[in-house]
Amino acid sequence: MTDGKLLSFVQKLTHLIEQNPSEEIIFVEGKALLENLISVDDWLPEEFTKPHPQHYQQYLLYADPLDRFSVVSFVWGPGQTTPVHNHTVWGMVGQLRGEEKGTHYHQQPDGSYQAGTIVISSPGHVDTVSPSSHDIHEVANNHNDQTSISIHVYGANIGKVERTTYDPDTGLEKKFTSGYANTVAPKL
Ligand code: FE
Repeated sequence: MTDGKLLSFVQKLTHLIEQNPSEEIIFVEGKALLENLISVDDWLPEEFTKPHPQHYQQYLLYADPLDRFSVVSFVWGPGQTTPVHNHTVWGMVGQLRGEEKGTHYHQQPDGSYQAGTIVISSPGHVDTVSPSSHDIHEVANNHNDQTSISIHVYGANIGKVERTTYDPDTGLEKKFTSGYANTVAPKL
């Protein structure tokens, strides 16, 4: 059980998405809903907070039946990091626990990718990604001695979306589909 907070978030977000809002509206109204969800860290069931010793974990918390959005718990063990990757749909990243370091990457004329803006996210902070402006980034646990957790919301069932990783030095692209670490989502 998630004490009704996740259910309430999903209900409000569903009402918002039903209005077919622009990305701009989602990043204002949807972001406010996510800020509210992550404002108190007392609702995420323990089985969706567990890190993996080798790599970060993605637990599906809710998938909209029409694939219009999904809610995922990302759990980072000490020092764990993503490859440089894209999303292809809008995304919001809300910090629940610990601290994450997000680095935006930009393609250069020679095909390589160079690091740009760096955002350190503390609990309560919501960052965004968007294919129309800033879709390629790398995320890392900003702590080497503790777990960090963020709640991600995407404009699709993100575990099913074919995406791309980039070697920043050569620009070499690789396709991937993330899936989820869990087979059963939490009871809302
Ligand atoms: Fe990402």
